[in-house]
Amino acid sequence: MNPMDISIILTYRCNSKCSMCYIWQNPTLPEKEVTLATLDKIPDGVDYLNLTGGEPTLRQDLLDIVDLLYPKAMQLEISSNGLNSHRIEPIINKYPDVKIRYSLEGSETTNNRIRGEDDGYNKKVAGLLRLQELGGTDLGFAITIQDDNVQDLVYLFQLCQKHGFELATSTLHNGFQFHKSDNVLYDRLKVAHHIEGLITEQLKTYDVKNWFRAYLNLGLISKALGLPRLLRCTAATDFVFIDPWSDVYACNVRPDLRMGNLEGGSWDEIYNGPLAQEITQKVYQCKHNCWMVGSAKTAMRNSRFSKLPKADPTLWVIINKLRVMLNQPILFEKYIDYSQVHLDDKVSKRQYFFGKTFKRQVESRDHHYTDDYFNV
Ligand code: SF4
Repeated sequence: MNPMDISIILTYRCNSKCSMCYIWQNPTLPEKEVTLATLDKIPDGVDYLNLTGGEPTLRQDLLDIVDLLYPKAMQLEISSNGLNSHRIEPIINKYPDVKIRYSLEGSETTNNRIRGEDDGYNKKVAGLLRLQELGGTDLGFAITIQDDNVQDLVYLFQLCQKHGFELATSTLHNGFQFHKSDNVLYDRLKVAHHIEGLITEQLKTYDVKNWFRAYLNLGLISKALGLPRLLRCTAATDFVFIDPWSDVYACNVRPDLRMGNLEGGSWDEIYNGPLAQEITQKVYQCKHNCWMVGSAKTAMRNSRFSKLPKADPTLWVIINKLRVMLNQPILFEKYIDYSQVHLDDKVSKRQYFFGKTFKRQVESRDHHYTDDYFNV
């Protein structure tokens, strides 16, 4: 059996300067990045392939990669910062149903500050509208919800609704691949209550996808409050990550969940080998409460019929859609134990890099990185 979802981190080069991810300070060397020959080892019949980074449009062979992988998956996604939208245009011309998500962190000022991007907001909005003109059928923005942009959530959702775009949501989390550990919300309750507003707006629409996204966002409230996941994680079984050096990981949070190297081995050895079984056990016992799109979406899926959701999310959607239709408030307290909120004593403020021309060095660097490579 193959995993339903595979995220391929094509590069750790990036031309944004985000405050919540320091991948851009730790770029890969292009000649060391995963090759087409290695990617060809990915089996056919995968449900979902996500090409991500770093910034995947910095790969000069991105169209070749799409040509190779498009036939292997039911759905192919490119997660991009949207600053090089012209590089996505030939892909949409050829494959209009490739899913495109551009990271957008809120209104113009908010986005550009959080992501350190010069005119990023306008480039992304114009870029996505252009892809729509070219016939793109699955376009949207993706936001990492945090204290500094949670007030823009409903605005962003309405912007998406207006243009027929989707809105993918996640919230701050730490992970070894981000090279930082201060991705902690300053005010968990404030963030949670703003997410409630988005959930209500999503349930007001007549789009079934929005209703299930509302459930995903319920899980984000749990994550934001530091509470346990709504559904058990199925990393290593239902989804894996491949990093730019062809290493396969169960997830991008725990470095100890490395399953093998695809350049040096076969897919079957890695995914079905003894190490994979050991890692599946570790995932089963994992106490992290992360709720990233990859792990949440796959956890919501029915294990026998991957196109259908599990019973719990479905029941939640039916009950709460009805409540919203009847103008009744959603009883968030029934699903989220607000009395158990995990409050941090001391949360350090994150740094912002908008308008800064330097790239800060980090103390601990991955063994793959060289000190002299900063030409992204
Ligand atoms: S719950 Fe654990 S195994 Fe699952 S994605 Fe999070 S850190 Fe990884």
